Amino acid sequence: MLGLMQNWPLLQHKIIDHAAAQYGDQEVVTRSVEGPIHRTNYRQVRERALRVAQRLAKDGVKSGDRVATLAWNTWRHLEAWYGITGIGAVYHTINPRLFPEQIAWIANHAQDRLVLLDLTFVPLMEQVADKIPSVERYVILTDRAHMPATKLKNAVAYEDWIAEVDGDFKWAEFDENTAAGLCYTSGTTGDPKGVLYSHRSNVLHALQACMKDTLAVSATDSILPIVPMFHANAWSLAFSVPLAGAKFVMPGAKLDGASIYELLETEKVTFSAAVPTVWLMLMQNMQATGGKLTTLKRVAIGGSACPPSMIEYFEERGVNVHHAWGMTEMSPIGTIGAIKPAVSGLKGKELLDLKSKQGHAIFAVEMKITDDEGNRLPWDGKKFGRLKVRGPAISRRYFKREDEEILDSEGYFDTGDVATIDPNGYMQITDRAKDVIKSGGEWISSIDIENLAVGHPQVAEAAVIGVAHPKWDERPLLVVVAKEGAEPDRKTILSYMDGKIAKWWMPDDVQFVREIPHTATGKINKLKLRQEFKDYKLPSE
Ligand code: ADP
Repeated sequence: MLGLMQNWPLLQHKIIDHAAAQYGDQEVVTRSVEGPIHRTNYRQVRERALRVAQRLAKDGVKSGDRVATLAWNTWRHLEAWYGITGIGAVYHTINPRLFPEQIAWIANHAQDRLVLLDLTFVPLMEQVADKIPSVERYVILTDRAHMPATKLKNAVAYEDWIAEVDGDFKWAEFDENTAAGLCYTSGTTGDPKGVLYSHRSNVLHALQACMKDTLAVSATDSILPIVPMFHANAWSLAFSVPLAGAKFVMPGAKLDGASIYELLETEKVTFSAAVPTVWLMLMQNMQATGGKLTTLKRVAIGGSACPPSMIEYFEERGVNVHHAWGMTEMSPIGTIGAIKPAVSGLKGKELLDLKSKQGHAIFAVEMKITDDEGNRLPWDGKKFGRLKVRGPAISRRYFKREDEEILDSEGYFDTGDVATIDPNGYMQITDRAKDVIKSGGEWISSIDIENLAVGHPQVAEAAVIGVAHPKWDERPLLVVVAKEGAEPDRKTILSYMDGKIAKWWMPDDVQFVREIPHTATGKINKLKLRQEFKDYKLPSE
């Protein structure tokens, strides 16, 4: 027997409809790419998104067609997402930090029909445009006054483009399982893989994200998503913030510490989300200027492990840190470090240790850890294994690789991460499976060592890689970037770490470098780092 409730498909545009109906005057503020602060509200964002939808329909864009965006977080980018999906087409976010050849590869794989791009990226697109024949038109996200001279095919200013229609348009109606968004994972090994979100998964994930013990998004908040819309579905914030009716603040092209600090203060931001490297820039700026955070209450930090020293920095300033973990394939939030009743009494170092873990699974994310044969491992906080996940906002296949099975026999997706889960359900990532250091038949967690090393007052960034060793298989090598003006030596760093981790986890050596290589999504590029140190010999050998 089926239930007798209404069939109300979970379509993304219903989020912006709700925001416009209930919170129509709520502000949407952007540091525009052209420079000045721009202010609009949800009512206008919806009206203009409808124009985008109508204009795309006029250009012959159909349900299922891909429309690429190469853009910062701005109100126009937000309108574009809702407009594109409002006719059943698919927003394809391109990460501008990719190499031009990679951009051409994914745009060809996606067969993008239009590209909507910011002024910043016109030169980049001009380099690759002749390699992407599927693109019929380039829409520059600006107005006529700022339109650059460009040879991009049929280039038009966004404001002119949407002015060509009257806005008298209705959203299309379709199945909630219709594709909505496409985001390629960085593909450090092999070709990039396209993760294809659906309306249903994006709406469900927005609801998950709003929950008090997830990101606690509320209409009384002022929210600055620094995490870009071109990375991992912007941690759902392009959906969850309007869904909850919160004030939406966007940083545009300026992600440096001074610009972020200014926005946090002038727009009275209460909650923000970003990867650790962005927070590091903010912290350095505040240290240099003596800036104080007067309105910020909470931050979500994820994408890479958040070192305990960063958690302490914010919490000492009255800002609650939620360490989060997820991935593009998970829409992307998987776990968050909200406090459960069982651990609510923890204080000091114990609380910091708990908060340094990546948190517990949110509703509609099931987790397990297994050994290499797929056998489940206990949740004892000690055994580490491959982390696998299942849920309605998690990939079951990659785009145009639909014949490739990516789930195990129980329907779980292997995240490629190695983790422990403690008896209270708190998960801790120890490594990516491909970065794990195997020493004497046991595994060493590079993340633990890195977290410890960056706690040293003279260390700006640290990375640990495994180096071949004749007796132990591999031994950890610590690679360090010193803070500006500091000149730490090997001995001070090793003695600082001594006693804080197991003896056999202690790095065999420390090497100092000017810069550690990063991926397009801001993670330490261990593949490249291992290549850079391929001829290195450990002193113990
Ligand atoms: P990409 O793989 O393209 O860089 P993703 O954002 O999808 O982009 O990367 C997801 C991966 O990032 C996870 O599988 C995990 O290895 C890492 N990650 C994300 N959040 C954390 C975190 N809080 N701590 C440690 N690693 C994290």
